[in-house]
Amino acid sequence: MALKTIDQFDLKGKRVILRADLNVPIKEGRITDDGRIRASLPTLEKLLAVGASVVVIAHLGRPKGERKPELSLQPVAHRLGELLGREVLFLSDIEAELPVDFAAKGGLALLENIRYEAAETSKNDEERSDLARKLARFGEFYVGDGFGAVHRKHASVFELAQILPHAMGYLVDSEVRVLETLNGSPQRPYAVVLGGAKVSDKIAVITNLIEKVDLLIIGGGMLFTFLAAQGKSVGKSLLEMDQIETVNAILARAHERGVNLLLPVDVKVATEFKDMHGDVVAVDAIGNDEMGLDIGPETAALYASALSSARTVFWNGPMGVFEFSNFQEGTRAVAHALTEIDGMTVVGGGDSAAAIRALGFKDDQFGYISTGGGASLEYLEGKELPGLVALR
Ligand code: ADP
Ligand code: MG
Repeated sequence: MALKTIDQFDLKGKRVILRADLNVPIKEGRITDDGRIRASLPTLEKLLAVGASVVVIAHLGRPKGERKPELSLQPVAHRLGELLGREVLFLSDIEAELPVDFAAKGGLALLENIRYEAAETSKNDEERSDLARKLARFGEFYVGDGFGAVHRKHASVFELAQILPHAMGYLVDSEVRVLETLNGSPQRPYAVVLGGAKVSDKIAVITNLIEKVDLLIIGGGMLFTFLAAQGKSVGKSLLEMDQIETVNAILARAHERGVNLLLPVDVKVATEFKDMHGDVVAVDAIGNDEMGLDIGPETAALYASALSSARTVFWNGPMGVFEFSNFQEGTRAVAHALTEIDGMTVVGGGDSAAAIRALGFKDDQFGYISTGGGASLEYLEGKELPGLVALR
């Protein structure tokens, strides 16, 4: 069943709850990439323009039910106000009262990090439903637009959407369209580039994608589990021993299907997890006291060349610890290769999007920059996403 967008409802004068994804990287109280805030603007602007009042619900990081000050949405409220050029009322907790004239004035409010509430992410259905019922008092209509969180069965994503009449926002609409194209009939060769840190999360995804892609390129922290599966020693690099068997199955399946699965031939290593000058070593020469923090230059060139013939590319996860200036080159090389491709390029993931911007690339050099990391990957896997199911 097709999902309805906000355009299919008359929301003039309505009190709307908008679940947005404002989970931006913040360093020492400063937002280092506001991409997700900007991506949520079209829906917000439209709602306000038609005369709805809006209470925005969002999360930041993983406070696990604790009011961690460094994970407050306060800086996000400030930035949102700047971008919209209007006042954003900040609600410090779910008990907060809206001003009496809030709806009549078409007001805009942002609720504090919803994950300060342990019930938001609770495994217990009743606890989540309870929280959703409390949140429902903030409005009479629900708009789901937090694409980056739609794969989570959380109170503000799943249960709340079911209590109120609902629609999807423009961001969810465009994200789903792009991913549908990738899943449906991507132009071939179809390449997927995977990196990042969440090793075990992504290994599950690869098991599925291996059935669909022509070229699979591995970088980031997870590459070391692949190297270990091939019997190489990886020193102090990220490694998940319990995934070795899965990785071996992936390697075997890639071979069977004729998928071109590329692994690094060299990596850049450091002796500590810090921004120090690194050394380039071959993948079979990683020392016991060394950790791999980026792919090496030979690998970067190999990956760029393999990507040049692709017609569709999905990329999730930086190739290395791009936050360190000494370990950005792999990510830069892959990003650059994508900008040269004659075809559809999609970049997914909060850190990946932040990385390309931090490295000086412009959004319009890529076909589409998805705000979703895990959500995009699970969509590509063909999984049902709770936040989308609830909007049907
Ligand atoms: P995304 O948010 O785009 O989905 P992830 O959150 O999975 O990406 O991963 C991003 C993180 O992966 C970055 O913070 C980066 O520093 C880290 N990373 C990349 N390569 C390595 C590595 N070799 N060792 C440790 N961390 C890595
Ligand atoms: Mg991330």
